[in-house]
Amino acid sequence: MKLGKYSIGVGDRFTYQGEAQLRAIMKANEKGVDIVPVWNKSNREHIYVGTKPMDTRVEADNAVKALNYQGAYFVDADHINLDTVSSYVESSDFFTLDVASFIGKESSPEKVEAFVASCQNYTGYLQIPGILEPLRISDQLLRRVAGKFLAAIDHAAEIYAYLKSEKGEGNFITEVSMDEVESPQTPVELLFILKMLADKKVPAQTIAPKFTGRFNKGVDYVGDLDRFAREFEEDLLVIDFAVKEFGLPKELKLSVHSGSDKFSIYPIIAEAIAKHGKGIHLKTAGTTWLEEVIGLAMAGGEGLALAKRIYERSFTRREVLCAPYADVIDIDESKLPPVAEVNGWSGDKFANTLRHIPGHPDYNPNFRQLIHVAYAVAAEMGSEYTDLLVKHADVVGSCVEENIYDRHLKRLFNL
Ligand SMILES: [Zn+2]
Repeated sequence: MKLGKYSIGVGDRFTYQGEAQLRAIMKANEKGVDIVPVWNKSNREHIYVGTKPMDTRVEADNAVKALNYQGAYFVDADHINLDTVSSYVESSDFFTLDVASFIGKESSPEKVEAFVASCQNYTGYLQIPGILEPLRISDQLLRRVAGKFLAAIDHAAEIYAYLKSEKGEGNFITEVSMDEVESPQTPVELLFILKMLADKKVPAQTIAPKFTGRFNKGVDYVGDLDRFAREFEEDLLVIDFAVKEFGLPKELKLSVHSGSDKFSIYPIIAEAIAKHGKGIHLKTAGTTWLEEVIGLAMAGGEGLALAKRIYERSFTRREVLCAPYADVIDIDESKLPPVAEVNGWSGDKFANTLRHIPGHPDYNPNFRQLIHVAYAVAAEMGSEYTDLLVKHADVVGSCVEENIYDRHLKRLFNL
């Protein structure tokens, strides 16, 4: 099973927007790019919303059938580990093995030394084709990298072995993620992480490192764009080298867990992958849930009233809602509009405040980030929320489609 060169992960918390998401991807594909849709949903999202892994499979299959989509598509068990993987075995054919919490866990000195010994061909000055400066690789560096990442890769190998026995070799896509950590992995670290994966025979087709900079939920990238560009390109070249040198799948590509809407790095990614003829997997997630709220606000009447109620409850419970996402949001509370003010807004004003149009005078990233993490509020509303999604499916669906096509795919694939 192969993922394909270009793929995009679309998350859908409430599983109502599969068709709208697929329409956006098919529209891009009609322009000649071949983008493979992947529906991703993490265990945490399933728990908050009260959905089951199979719901995402049903959503994807139904969307594909309804739109007569003929290409490949996948259902991603996003950020699973050995404790959570089993309930995804049946419904998923793409697994994101999240090993972030194992980074830095101790490995035995024997394992570390064995890894260092296995890398002796690469010590000294290592020239990676395409990277200007040779990498300086010492035993000390290898020991540090092994100490930091061997346990994580051991864990990836354990999950992979489990999946292989359950689903059969070659019947699923393997991604390894270590993005949900504070400090980014450098291209040199990535190189040896890939060696560890190859040593353990984990045939990863995508790898999601933590890139430099902040990837806050639902808002743009914050960080050093030049540094991101340099490291991203080096990562591409390191992967190229690792594939040939260590014998990893030749399809192996970077997976960018974007947290949605990293518009300012999209052109950098686009340029780098075009320059080197590389593929990419990009995950977006909460952006679709935000478009649902935008669509309801634009529908007016009861839709707008519900959108306002969502804000009111999000605002009241902001501390609890933000806590699990503390590392990936930056909300300036003083810039959150008071509930009474929002309750007086028109649908357009509400939508413009929430919609991510950089430079729009009404756009408020604080408002947006709060609602981004507040999907549990809508989940608690149950059918009160989802009935309106169905009733206003046209306006909500066109918001979802426009968002993915115009703001994401167009920027990322130069459409
Ligand atoms: Zn992630």
